[in-house]
Amino acid sequence: MTAFTDIQYLKGVGAKRAEILKSKGIDTVGALLRFYPRKYLDWTKTYPISRAPFFENVCVRAKIVTPIEEFKTKSSVVIYKFIVEDESGRMFVSLFNQRFLAEKLKMDREYLFYGKLDGNFGARQMNSPIIKPADYNVIEPIYPASRDMSSAQLSRLVKTAVNSLELEETLPQIILERNNLCSLKFAIENIHFPLSPEAFKKAKERLVFEELFVLQVALSIIKLKTHQKSGCIIKNNSVEAFKQGLPFELTSAQSRVINECIKDMQSGRPMTRLIQGDVGSGKTMVAAALCSVAAENGYQSALMAPTEILAEQHFKTLSNINECSGIKCGLLTGSLTAKQKLVVKKQLADGEIDVIIGTHALIVDDVQFNNLGLVITDEQHRFGVAQREKLTKKGENPHTLVMSATPIPQTLGLILYGDLDISIIDEYPKGRQKIDTYCVDSTYRNRIYNYIKKFLNNGQQGYIVCPLVEDGEESGLKSAKEYYNALCENEFKDYSLGLLHGKMNAKDKEKVMRRFAEGEIQLLVATTVIEVGIDVPNAVVMLIEDADRFGLSQLHQLRGRIGRGNAKSDCILISDSQNEETLYRLNVIKSSSDGFKIADKDFELRGPGDFLGNRQHGIPQMKIADIFADKEVLFKAKKEAELLLQYDPRLKFPENKELRQEVIDLYKRLNQN
Ligand code: ADP
Ligand code: MG
Repeated sequence: MTAFTDIQYLKGVGAKRAEILKSKGIDTVGALLRFYPRKYLDWTKTYPISRAPFFENVCVRAKIVTPIEEFKTKSSVVIYKFIVEDESGRMFVSLFNQRFLAEKLKMDREYLFYGKLDGNFGARQMNSPIIKPADYNVIEPIYPASRDMSSAQLSRLVKTAVNSLELEETLPQIILERNNLCSLKFAIENIHFPLSPEAFKKAKERLVFEELFVLQVALSIIKLKTHQKSGCIIKNNSVEAFKQGLPFELTSAQSRVINECIKDMQSGRPMTRLIQGDVGSGKTMVAAALCSVAAENGYQSALMAPTEILAEQHFKTLSNINECSGIKCGLLTGSLTAKQKLVVKKQLADGEIDVIIGTHALIVDDVQFNNLGLVITDEQHRFGVAQREKLTKKGENPHTLVMSATPIPQTLGLILYGDLDISIIDEYPKGRQKIDTYCVDSTYRNRIYNYIKKFLNNGQQGYIVCPLVEDGEESGLKSAKEYYNALCENEFKDYSLGLLHGKMNAKDKEKVMRRFAEGEIQLLVATTVIEVGIDVPNAVVMLIEDADRFGLSQLHQLRGRIGRGNAKSDCILISDSQNEETLYRLNVIKSSSDGFKIADKDFELRGPGDFLGNRQHGIPQMKIADIFADKEVLFKAKKEAELLLQYDPRLKFPENKELRQEVIDLYKRLNQN
């Protein structure tokens, strides 16, 4: 029996159980061993009754000192009651309907009771505890159970697997020694059936390291591989013509990053680079510059954005810049008519279009390029790694650039972008002023309306953001539609207002955005559809309703829609929440404008899943590591991975055979995501 043996052949499994196990993702004996307990019941650590804390799970060792009495309630529930005692005190125990258990218990005998204490200090009480013989001296694993398989059944199968399998070490000896890690055998045994809390700790340490290490090895290999391919070579590297078309000078950070990218594109290897820059730092210009360079060298570029509004905006920006240079831009989004799409696709395949800008519509199978040399994804965190690759495959090792406006914590960056080189735009265009942010409760609303009117009277524009589109979705919250109607009829009836939300069709959205961009709409009531990328520099004030409903990074992104010109901008957050954590979060936004810092806090408060808001973030599901809490281990693992690949870049050495298999498994999982 090996780790790869089909789970069906493990003793005690069989066809029917195999099916259940496979539905949990356990298809081999090895996978079962990697199916770690969700938590543990520690029967080894007992409390004296009188000192056990209330309202949390505790284990008590005590003797039954009264006969077990049986009561029937009106609703015919049978309750068994008795008293237990240790040297420190006594407690009442009640069991409900558990005849089988109650009949087995004997007076004057000692047992272990696991449960929550309540009652008061005079009369401690435990309802429906789990009861074991007094010598049950183990740390018991609890597995994620389902209706068709209990934790105890899983536990028995794992035990069989542990006993019938000689596990091969996956980590090189030197790495174990250098990092003071236990063997895989010890780790697997003790993660399932810990001999002691210390043994458990050792086991977990090793498995966390291993998980992050395998991930880092996989990412580093992807990086090495792309670096070994040959990419199209850019010969003409001048951006002078491009600069001529700009109404402003590039910032030195923009110029530096453009040069870093051009260097990659001249190297003969495909560029794989991430540009990180806070909202408003001017990433679009970097993309535009590189598209021009690619076009000058006879290559097509594709720029993919997560929303239609953003794609359309980029299309306009790039078209304007390239108007006089003869570079042809095209737009491909889902809302084009079938006919329009056909035309664009044909022009693309024929090489008539130099720069195509679009949404997910770009990765559809029948989109073909003539000579794709550069792929750029904007707001990369909105796309999965797989989508990025799908676009890349439409060319022959094109250069790839991903841009992220949501600064992400360093740890997450290592995982999401571990296969990429990184450039950072750490400078804003000249003349930007700090955005002032205020938090108030709703009693201030009217004063704020007046404040906003001052801006509008001054010829400037603003936003009001609400969490919902329509009323009734969730009670008590402001919905954009109702809000808009109310403002139009009352407070802002003398102004020109617009409404923008996600349930509008693309054409209507576009119409509203255009009217806003052209200054025809003064105040835009919107949902978070404006969150990503929208650029209207004359908009200088933003009111966010029910601000507590938004995540920190989301608020930062929203706020990034203002403060994009030279005028002073203000952001006002309204929230009536009294919740301490909420107030803390809002205060983070108020006092910081550093996207990285905010992202770190957000991540810490909400965890990686919620942080990114949706499942399409390309982070493989971690089994045991916590990429935030285990940050230090992640860095260590990365370093070790790089060292290892220096002497065995393809994991061909016999001692790395097991590791190689783990890495291949991980690739499979990454591609399923
Ligand atoms: P983001 O990095 O958030 O994508 P954008 O690319 O949308 O930022 O740029 C924000 C705004 O700054 C846009 O209005 C853009 O035209 C402007 N901008 C970009 N670069 C410069 C520059 N070098 N000087 C002045 N304004 C700039
Ligand atoms: Mg942008």
